[in-house]
Amino acid sequence: MTRMDAHTRIEELKAILLENSRKYYVENAPTMSDYEYDQLMHELEGLEADFPEFATEDSPTRRVGSDLAAQGESGFAKYPHKYPMLSLGNTYSIQEIEEFAERAAKALDRPFTWCCELKFDGTAICLTYRNGRLFRALTRGDGVKGDDVTENAKRISNIPHQLKGSGWPEEFEIRGEVLMPFESFDRLNHERELAEEPLFANPRNAASGSLKLQDPEEVGRRGLMCTLYHIPTGQVDFPTHDAALRAAEEWGLPVSHERKLCSGISEIEDFIGHWDTERKKLPYATDGIVIKINEMAFQQQLGYTAKSPRWACAYKFKAEQACTPILSIDYQVGRTGAVTPVANLEPVFLSGTMVKRATLVNEDQIRALDIHEGDWVYVEKGGEIIPKITGVEESKRAPGAKPPVFPDVCPDCGAPLVRVEGEAKWFCPNTKGCPTQIKGRMEHFVTRKAMNILCGEATIDQLYRMDLASKPSDLYKLKADQLICLEGWKERAAARFLESVKASRNVPFERVLFAIGIRFVGETTARDIARHFGSIEQLEAASKEDLLGVPEVGEVIADSVYNFFREPENIQEIEALKAAGLRFSVETAQAASDALQGKSIVISGNFSISRDDMKALIEANGGRNSSSVSSKTDYLLAGTKPGPEKLKKAAGLGIPVIGEQEFMSMIPASPSPAPEEEKADEDGDWTLF
Ligand code: NAD
Repeated sequence: MTRMDAHTRIEELKAILLENSRKYYVENAPTMSDYEYDQLMHELEGLEADFPEFATEDSPTRRVGSDLAAQGESGFAKYPHKYPMLSLGNTYSIQEIEEFAERAAKALDRPFTWCCELKFDGTAICLTYRNGRLFRALTRGDGVKGDDVTENAKRISNIPHQLKGSGWPEEFEIRGEVLMPFESFDRLNHERELAEEPLFANPRNAASGSLKLQDPEEVGRRGLMCTLYHIPTGQVDFPTHDAALRAAEEWGLPVSHERKLCSGISEIEDFIGHWDTERKKLPYATDGIVIKINEMAFQQQLGYTAKSPRWACAYKFKAEQACTPILSIDYQVGRTGAVTPVANLEPVFLSGTMVKRATLVNEDQIRALDIHEGDWVYVEKGGEIIPKITGVEESKRAPGAKPPVFPDVCPDCGAPLVRVEGEAKWFCPNTKGCPTQIKGRMEHFVTRKAMNILCGEATIDQLYRMDLASKPSDLYKLKADQLICLEGWKERAAARFLESVKASRNVPFERVLFAIGIRFVGETTARDIARHFGSIEQLEAASKEDLLGVPEVGEVIADSVYNFFREPENIQEIEALKAAGLRFSVETAQAASDALQGKSIVISGNFSISRDDMKALIEANGGRNSSSVSSKTDYLLAGTKPGPEKLKKAAGLGIPVIGEQEFMSMIPASPSPAPEEEKADEDGDWTLF
């Protein structure tokens, strides 16, 4: 390669890696596989080694990928790390692990041990404990400073707020990974699917996205967990890494037991071989093995590069891929009528489970992959979970094989399909008569985030088949004696089901609005619309312009809501649900006054009541809570520990900053909600960025 070619390729690789790093860390929506990314990174490392004159300080080979959003966007205060939070050198080759181990042995030239651990596939976190209490939780950020996610970390159930035992240093940092176990991930994606929200590609993205939510209560509901694996040297005087982790465990910190001390490369290789298969049984994702020198003194001796420690290395497992033939293609209809092609595959074992089906997404994707009937296709699990077809093995294509023909009628009810301009999917327009759509709407209605009625797909199907329910309002007419004579129902199950139906009458209007399943109206939009209009009558009477007046509601949503209320069947169903006793207006307690009518208020920091209660109070008094400070903001309501970015922006724009007391004096006195249980610690001696 000529110098010029090398220079061009280096610049090209830097641009590709930087762009994909942003998609991965900031947007949590990578479009390239980790393997591809790592191959490009290795190519860049190689070129920079051969042409050092083109290696610059800002190269992705010398910096950890940053999860920090652009300044001021994330809403989190940023604090410096006491010790940089680095990445790990990584390889997919056992031979390179052997070379790494040899280099370390040569450099140390004394006997030492290795500590082999799982490489947890989540998002890194750094916890600081001060006087035994959780003081601060920071993300890795750009390695030098991280986002303060303390309030969110406090909602992760296995992170202790207070250490147990004794002997912990007055202040120390411990680092680890926040993970989303498969079970929580499946539940979250199922809920998002029903709410028509974009799905997370894998548990890593879901964990990272959840840890950066602005709503700590929601973080608590996401079912995250934490595992800790590193106390930076210098703070705590332990002879070995393993001894430090054992002490951390005694203090009540969550430390993984799946680690092993090894004396040499053959034991390391056994550990890798063991976990290559066993990890598939774990309830959370791992993407490799981390091999660390166990003795702290030797770690210090070997030190760090700009990007990673020299005393550790990660062996990464390649995402498994399988090649298998397509047996047939189903065209599945969803609750909104969208038709999705799904390939039925010759069953194949992949990343711990038998894969029999994989999505083909839509007609355009079938064309892009050039799929033909009976093709052998490559299947991968995105983040090891969702099987997807990544390519076709053309050499195995049968002579004369034809591309599949996308149906022109609904495979369920036979109605001619339609494809609206600008949409990638075909739709069945028979919303009222298509059984899958009818059942899909009821399934959505009963979900936890909607009416929270205790029944699943099979029950809905049974009730539908037995002619007992074909719309949500039918569920409120069911009687115990109708249920117990159905197959599989006992008295207790019927009683529990009916109890949950009864309890759903107390579900607030905003969730009822979400439950009735207006297209494009997810949980948040339903809440905004409910609070804006206050009652279903006001909403029914709203014009498109009125709807566009709801913050965050654009043309598509406004059209969808407007059209929904122009359908007589929908109005009839709402009347039936009203008669069943469901709530169709915001509670009077919420509509307290219009003292803040038209005011846009941003809140920051902690208050004597929870942040959610504070937001509700603003809205109940006619104000609007928005998440970021702009020229349209009327007040920044600052509690204790307000975000420095928000304060700075408000000062720059001349927006008044008010405290809790002043705010309370602006609205009529209301019965005070319970004080928040957890209060943040006062600021310490950390410098704010
Ligand atoms: P990494 O994931 O390869 O390894 C470092 C991280 O491993 C640490 O920060 C820590 O969070 C984690 N870790 C898990 N278990 C650990 C343990 N037991 N001990 C120590 N650390 C442990 O490095 P990274 O810098 O977080 O991410 C870089 C990787 O991310 C790349 O190699 C690539 O695979 C992936 N990536 C992918 C894309 C993409 O577009 N697909 C883009 C950017 C990065």
